[in-house]
Amino acid sequence: MIMTTTSSHAFQPVLERIAEELEHTPGRGRPADYIPALAARDPRSFGMAVAELDGTVYGVGDWREPFSTQSITKVFTLALELSREGDTLWEHVGREPSGNPFNSLVQLEYENGIPRNPFINAGALVVTDRLHTRTDDAAGEFLAFLRAESGNPRLAFDEEVAASESAHGDRNAALAHFMASYGNIGNPVPVLLDQYFRQCSLSASCADLALATSFLARHGIRADGTRLLTRSQAKQVNAVMLTCGTYDAAGDFAYRVGLPGKSGVGGGIIAVVPGRCTLCVWGPGLDERGNSVAGVAALDRFTTLTGLSVF
Ligand code: GLU
Repeated sequence: MIMTTTSSHAFQPVLERIAEELEHTPGRGRPADYIPALAARDPRSFGMAVAELDGTVYGVGDWREPFSTQSITKVFTLALELSREGDTLWEHVGREPSGNPFNSLVQLEYENGIPRNPFINAGALVVTDRLHTRTDDAAGEFLAFLRAESGNPRLAFDEEVAASESAHGDRNAALAHFMASYGNIGNPVPVLLDQYFRQCSLSASCADLALATSFLARHGIRADGTRLLTRSQAKQVNAVMLTCGTYDAAGDFAYRVGLPGKSGVGGGIIAVVPGRCTLCVWGPGLDERGNSVAGVAALDRFTTLTGLSVF
């Protein structure tokens, strides 16, 4: 049954129905353990929020519980850097799916230190590096933006998660050094890694992230009515999310969910219905590709039940 959602308050029963269905779904995957501070989360946790363009938010389950945002943050640094730099950014990072794991080194050598897209780690490191060069405080710019868009001034980095990742960050360090050898990183690698790990450690809830993503559903307009991205740039960011936002499973995510989305190894996924609403879902158990099992299932059900999708 498709309950095409025309009035906004119809979202609440849809969210409750999805949570109820998931209660009966066995198998939630496993939390990421390569960052030890993430491994302790309960895979049965589940939250989901929908934000309308005017800032009204609906939620279910653990939708106000903060979790580690990780790669979801790559969307926001991309938007911030693209808004300042414009198209020359694409000379330093591509916009094609990688077909490789998010932290792969292999492709970088074939492609002369230019990462495939801004949502694999190498690409995000390039974006954060350029944002840091431009602002002298990439993580601070990012945090100020998230606080403003979510309306939550208490949003903060989780220093324990950042330290945990830093202590186990050899692969990201290798990626950054390798790209530096091609001249595609401008800051000293330790400075860049510190910025990147703090960015990834942001702790935020589904409600915070659904609201913070709204500028992408408003075609580039921020919560205060000012413009961050041109309409065309907002389209571009959404397009890269659709094709590259869910690791090496973006094709399956597009098939099942049909929305631009970005996942993180903390178990969160943000998604955009352009011109209509934004979503954030969280379940810490991941599948073998690194996406939240409950998160993908919930978004799949949301677009099926409401008929809201870009297709
Ligand atoms: N901070 C994580 C890393 O760089 C982010 C990974 C992710 O969420 O995809 O490994």
